[in-house]
Amino acid sequence: AKQLGRNRYHYFTQAMQKSTQKRMRLTNELRGAQEAGQLRLYYQPIIELANNSIHKAEALIRWQHPTRGQISPAEFIPIAEETGLINSIGEWVFHEAVKQASHWRATYHSEFQISINKSPVQFRDDTLKYAAWPDQLKEIGLSGQSIVVEITEGMLMDASDLITSKLLAFRDAGVQVALDDFGTGYSSLSYLKKFDIDYLKIDQSFTRNLSPTSADMALCEAIIVMAHKLGIKVIAEGVETIEQRDLLIAADCDYAQGYLFSRPVPPDEFERLLTES
Ligand code: C2E
Ligand code: CA
Ligand code: CA
Ligand code: CA
Repeated sequence: AKQLGRNRYHYFTQAMQKSTQKRMRLTNELRGAQEAGQLRLYYQPIIELANNSIHKAEALIRWQHPTRGQISPAEFIPIAEETGLINSIGEWVFHEAVKQASHWRATYHSEFQISINKSPVQFRDDTLKYAAWPDQLKEIGLSGQSIVVEITEGMLMDASDLITSKLLAFRDAGVQVALDDFGTGYSSLSYLKKFDIDYLKIDQSFTRNLSPTSADMALCEAIIVMAHKLGIKVIAEGVETIEQRDLLIAADCDYAQGYLFSRPVPPDEFERLLTES
């Protein structure tokens, strides 16, 4: 038994060393990836359920690694957050999304919007870069209304003055705010009242098992009614089936996003979706 224990310990430390090494390698490579142009923004359509139209998209980052293929943001965003690389990556995402939104506004729909994800780390960074957003937008000749910032509940929890002032800076630039992954964190009914939020995104853990009589259905309906009373529009995430979509339409949900409509795709493929819709 002792021998077995020792072996197990041995394997355990080996596995740990391996994962630490992998992390260190990824960190080093991520540093170079941005400069080497290996980061891409993919776009997933957000469908307006009332008329089946696409006037919004969520930008989702991808790392096209030269030898390891595509690396998921779930894997590298946490590393970017720990190492501070998230700040320059976030700036890149913002510029890329603004440029893209500007193009699609000019060529496709004058009110087209792109949502970008902001990590809590970026939000806490107190260089107040966001204060520069209005100027940057003006330079590109674009209104902030082309951008929606997705933040998570956790961010509003440590609702310092800094967070409040950053949200106000967004507002001043005309940028709208969406509360992402709603229902998964510490529930923030009071934050909905306290902060001026434009969209609430119901997390896919609620939409996954929608059926007419399920508890999740009751929750979705209640969230939608509450949000509407507060003047907030609702986006359902992770919609994969026609049944889910129809139940959400019946519950008066405003928007839906998910594989039923499209996976996140590169800009040229997204344009094809736009012209087909
Ligand atoms: P998220 O913001 O909650 O994004 C939604 C995730 O659900 C995306 O995963 C999307 O591809 C996936 N998804 C969309 N529709 C469906 C569906 O019908 N079924 C299922 N099972 N999944 C669906 P993705 O692209 O792997 O991104 C994972 C997370 O990485 C995002 O979660 C977000 O937190 C983070 N992330 C992505 N891009 C960025 C970025 O530019 N900046 C920051 N800070 N975080 C990002
Ligand atoms: Ca999101
Ligand atoms: Ca989400
Ligand atoms: Ca509002």
